[in-house]
Amino acid sequence: MIINIASLANLVFPPFCAGCDRPFTVMCDRCYEALDFTFAPINLNLDQTCLDSLQATLNYQDPIKSLIKEMKYLSVKPNAHWCGILLFQTVNWPDVDIVTSVPLHPKRLRERSFNQAEEIAKVFAAKARLPYQRLLKRQVNTPHQASFKSKRKRLKALDKVFKLSDDTSVNEVKGKTILIIDDVVTTGTTLNQCAKVLKTSGAKKVCGLAVAHD
Ligand SMILES: [Zn+2]
Repeated sequence: MIINIASLANLVFPPFCAGCDRPFTVMCDRCYEALDFTFAPINLNLDQTCLDSLQATLNYQDPIKSLIKEMKYLSVKPNAHWCGILLFQTVNWPDVDIVTSVPLHPKRLRERSFNQAEEIAKVFAAKARLPYQRLLKRQVNTPHQASFKSKRKRLKALDKVFKLSDDTSVNEVKGKTILIIDDVVTTGTTLNQCAKVLKTSGAKKVCGLAVAHD
C-alpha cells in the first residue's frame, strides 16, 4: 500500500492559520479581517473569449496567498475546504446546471495528492446544492505559467491541453450552463481554454470563478 505523506500529515497535524500560524484554524478571525475582497468582474484581454463571465473573490495577496501556497505546494487539504466554504459564503454565483473545476495533469495530481481546484469546487457545490462533475481532463502537463517568455507562447502551449474527461459525453454538456472553478486566476487564459472545450461540446454558457485574482 502506498501511503501519501501529504495526506497523512493532514490527519496527524492540526491546521495552522495561514496568516499567523495560530493552531486549530485554517484562518483566524484577525487574518480573515485582513483579506482583500474584490467582487468586481474580471475583464479578459484575450483574442477569443469563451467565458461568459469571470469573477474572483479576493486579491491575491497575504494572507490568502500563503493559504493558497500551503494548499498547493504543501498539500494542505483543509485549506481547500476553507476556500470552498469562502466561495459559498461570499459569492453571488450565477444560476448554473453543473459545477466543475480546472483539471490537473495526472502526474501533478500524484505529486500533490489532490486537485485543489476540484476540492474547492466540490465543497462549494455541496454547500450550494449543485451537482459537481469532473467534466474535463488535462492531457498535457504544461509548465508553470511564469516559465513562458511571452503570452503568445503560453497560449500556444495551452491550446489542446484540455479535453472532455473520458467519462463525460457531449450530451452531458450540451445546452448546459456550467460554473468552472479554479484557485487563482491570472490572465484567465486557463479558465478560458477550459470554457473553449465546453463550448465546443455544446455548453450554453460557461462562467468562471476563482478564489483569488493575481
Ligand atoms: Zn491568523
